[in-house]
Amino acid sequence: MPEKVLVLAEISEGELRNVSYEAVAAGRKIAGDNEVVALLCGDSVSDLSENLIHHGADRVLVAENENLKNYTTDAYKQALLQVVEKESPDALLMPHTSPGKDLAPRIATKLNSGLVSDAVDVEVDGDEVIFTRPIYSGKAFEKKSVTDGVIFATFRPNNIPPLEADSSRSGDTGTVDVEINDLRTVIKDVVKKTSGGVDLSEANVIIAGGRGVKSAEGFEPLYELADVLGGAVGASRGACDAEYCDYSLQIGQTGKVVTPDLYIAVGISGAIQHLAGMSSSKCIVAINKDAESPIFDVADYSLTGDLFEIVPLLIEEFKKVTA
Ligand code: FAD
Repeated sequence: MPEKVLVLAEISEGELRNVSYEAVAAGRKIAGDNEVVALLCGDSVSDLSENLIHHGADRVLVAENENLKNYTTDAYKQALLQVVEKESPDALLMPHTSPGKDLAPRIATKLNSGLVSDAVDVEVDGDEVIFTRPIYSGKAFEKKSVTDGVIFATFRPNNIPPLEADSSRSGDTGTVDVEINDLRTVIKDVVKKTSGGVDLSEANVIIAGGRGVKSAEGFEPLYELADVLGGAVGASRGACDAEYCDYSLQIGQTGKVVTPDLYIAVGISGAIQHLAGMSSSKCIVAINKDAESPIFDVADYSLTGDLFEIVPLLIEEFKKVTA
């Protein structure tokens, strides 16, 4: 078992992302009684330390620097490498999010380590730490263990359950000085494309629309259903290409990878590239008028029929149970 696990926590709009707690839970799983250290990078973020301790970290390191306010490759790479050098962890974990996917291979190269990317589970068997990760666009899973050097992995959101918050847990919080120089990118302003709502990559419920929805107006009932269920709206590339919605909603091989508890695919045929982004969802409901549609091969519940009739009925029925 690693004696020290360092977990990079991720912050979005001043809040810890849920996947940060999931990565801490993964760290706890592999550290056993050994130390889990969480690293917070940002500007005025130390208030978040307690939450990480309540969710399983033994110690929190806070790297405060105005250049860490927003994620940039250069700044985060420099900060993380300096902390790794100071702390010498045996294992390094981070979320498999856009920043995590960008950062992890660069850190692995600098550390001359391997990288288990996009893990969905981890277990310890004797001295071995074994990760599970999807392969072939989610059609199969492989088990990988790290036999040499730093154990380094990124975790897909919504797979490892976070530990329940325990406010009686206590731990140390300290600051760590990091020097950040020679930035090739400076973020002047962040312009959000979507406003409010549930973050698609961490949503527990996703209503995804495809080309079968036929128009941007056709997406409106999907937003209503998502609202009723407290979920987020996603889309196939077919729907994005047809300009029914923004590409930020695209799910799949070249879009977001999601693992919600409930995925409702509406008017989506189920191309392999779409399945690559959602087939690990815990419960899949598909609505399609074509009974032979491949989406039904991965669906737990198949509703064959016209989406324009079925979605309003679902809204009506779910409103009754969620009221
Ligand atoms: P279609 O395949 O056109 O399916 C529409 C479905 O709606 C049909 O099954 C039809 O029966 C149903 N339908 C129509 N009307 C109704 C109705 N009234 N009621 C009920 N059902 C109805 N795709 C992705 O989604 N994500 C990706 O990340 C992605 N990456 C790609 C990467 C590459 C390199 C390539 C080559 C392709 C990629 N694609 C991706 C595209 C993918 O191959 C499909 O073209 C796309 O997923 C199809 O979108 P769709 O299911 O919405 O449309």
